[in-house]
Amino acid sequence: MPAGPPEPKPEPGRGCLLDVGADQASGDDTASYQTQVHVHLTNIVANLRAVRERVGPDRKILFAVKADAYGHGAVDVARAAVAAGAADWLGVATVPEGLELRRAGIDAPILKLSATFRPDVGAEMAIAAGADISLVVCDRDGVEALQRVCAERGLVAGVHLKVDTGMGRIGCPTSEAPALAGVIERDCPALSLDGLMTHLPVSDVPDQDDFTAAQIARFVACRSHVEQAVGRSVPAHCANSAGILGHPDSWLDMVRPGIMAYGSYPDPSTPRTVELLPGLSWVTRVSFVKKVAAGTSVSYGRTWVAPRETVIATLPVGYGDGYDRRLSNSGHVLLGGRRVPIVGRVCMDQLMVDAGTAASVAVGDRVVLLGRDGTEEISAEDMAIELGTIPYEVTCRISHRVPRIHALS
Ligand SMILES: *Cc1c(COP(=O)(O)O)cnc(C)c1O
Repeated sequence: MPAGPPEPKPEPGRGCLLDVGADQASGDDTASYQTQVHVHLTNIVANLRAVRERVGPDRKILFAVKADAYGHGAVDVARAAVAAGAADWLGVATVPEGLELRRAGIDAPILKLSATFRPDVGAEMAIAAGADISLVVCDRDGVEALQRVCAERGLVAGVHLKVDTGMGRIGCPTSEAPALAGVIERDCPALSLDGLMTHLPVSDVPDQDDFTAAQIARFVACRSHVEQAVGRSVPAHCANSAGILGHPDSWLDMVRPGIMAYGSYPDPSTPRTVELLPGLSWVTRVSFVKKVAAGTSVSYGRTWVAPRETVIATLPVGYGDGYDRRLSNSGHVLLGGRRVPIVGRVCMDQLMVDAGTAASVAVGDRVVLLGRDGTEEISAEDMAIELGTIPYEVTCRISHRVPRIHALS
């Protein structure tokens, strides 16, 4: 192949655009991408206050901010909740999630909710203990390893002993908990047994309330055996959002709300005993408008063909933003307060809607993907039902390309 033309020299000053200060750069990022998530911090704080109202002032609240606060932006959300006194503890799923909060200057107690790897697998224990991130322990090997890691470094780690009362995920059998608690208390000076916990897999579905009630009863009994073994009281917690909403017996010393703080009920059948406000809105703007004749096909695969003349609006959002491709030819968005259908396949970066024949639609018009516009609303729960999933997944999957704008409203 013949050599191509010489590389053009960069024009003077071109690279300077990338050298703008951090503040300006992030401002520019936001201003230059119209697909955005607006996080309503005030609503999230109000939802947590409603939890406090329901469970009473003497119980602690561990606010689950794992998975980037279910897609809402962990640092801003956690900071707002802690500053408002609406959360006492923060729950993360990984040590890096906890470190992100610590590096942002958040000094509230943090519990890593999932199982901890021993030092032969990775440095999780040492790093967590060094950042004062409390860890879940489930077995004797893990307890002894954590004791060694902390003793070598002169650290003390807070630990919560997890018992499996029916989740079938992590935790020791209730029968082993008293002995394990005794080992932590007596033989592990570098560990502080700060909690006893379990998790409820069906607290959101009332037709399985018997299972949940039995779990809670087993857990409460286990707690008293643990307390006998260590000779003092140990704070106990097991209530997720559904426990808070439907099972007062599960509240114990601390509750662990996640999804309800973000404004969704865990399941359509969960009792709505607390009124919730939406944690986020997902918005964009029309990027292109065209009139098409009957018979015109739209998007990959030509799965939709205009049955009549109509106006098609293109939106700069797609599965690369976490907008599910299964909403192709089935989802809706709010355009000028009207519910309009997605037509054709959702692409990686764009999708098309049928704005209708009579529509007056212009480039730049606001579109709501999740949230409210006038009297119409598409909630994370609505979208979850449409997709055959749960609201948790809907907000978690909004990708990092979409800027989160945190507003106190
Ligand atoms: C995520 C999580 C919660 C919060 O659950 P929600 O259903 O979102 O309220 C509570 N406890 C544990 C252990 C968790 O991992």
